[in-house]
Amino acid sequence: MITLALSKGRIFEETLPLLAAAGIEVLEDPEKSRKLILPTSRPEVRVVLVRASDVPTYVEYGGADLGVTGLDTLLEHNMEHPGGASLVQPLDLRIAKCRVSVAVRSDFDYAHAVRQGSRLKVATKYVGIAREFFATKGVHVDLIKLYGSMELAPLTGLADAIVDLVSTGNTLKANHLVEVERIMDISSRLVVNPAALKLKREPIRQIIDAFASAIRPD
Ligand code: AMP
Repeated sequence: MITLALSKGRIFEETLPLLAAAGIEVLEDPEKSRKLILPTSRPEVRVVLVRASDVPTYVEYGGADLGVTGLDTLLEHNMEHPGGASLVQPLDLRIAKCRVSVAVRSDFDYAHAVRQGSRLKVATKYVGIAREFFATKGVHVDLIKLYGSMELAPLTGLADAIVDLVSTGNTLKANHLVEVERIMDISSRLVVNPAALKLKREPIRQIIDAFASAIRPD
């Protein structure tokens, strides 16, 4: 059995064409079914649905052989678990593209605050990425860990800035926030459990090769 860990939403949807290239069709729609293990058209392949931030953990500990996860999640996972078993990362799938950015209220003078050397309060789910980014810039920050609705933090006075994913920029705009720095570009990666790659080399190789052939250039 080959187990692939995916998260619902954009990653699931954008992985479907890659799975099709490997001759794998997921037989249930996760938006309609409550099942967490989805059968596929290939009896020896199944998909498990996990929270996006749990995909690296599932693959690292062998709960899944492969997974698809955003670079943001992967970096954050590696920073939180520095001693963890290394995941094989054979492919940048070029899906679920977005960026990690710093955003503030449109009436907040970010450049001035940074120049002044004042301590910035930054709310984010990406504590590791944010800590490294501001340390490299030499900006002192107090990091506030949030698990969602980051956009609320500057609006309620919880923080001066947020570090969050931006795709079209519509969410920031709707909340009167502006993007002031782009930290890094993000896309989703295929991750593979190293032991599974050794033990199930042929079927996993076949999936990696099919995914590679279906990656769309920019
Ligand atoms: P947008 O309004 O298009 O800029 O999208 C921003 C919102 O969607 C934010 O709440 C992000 O956390 C979320 N988002 C954008 N791109 C992604 C992605 N590739 N994966 C997961 N969440 C995303």
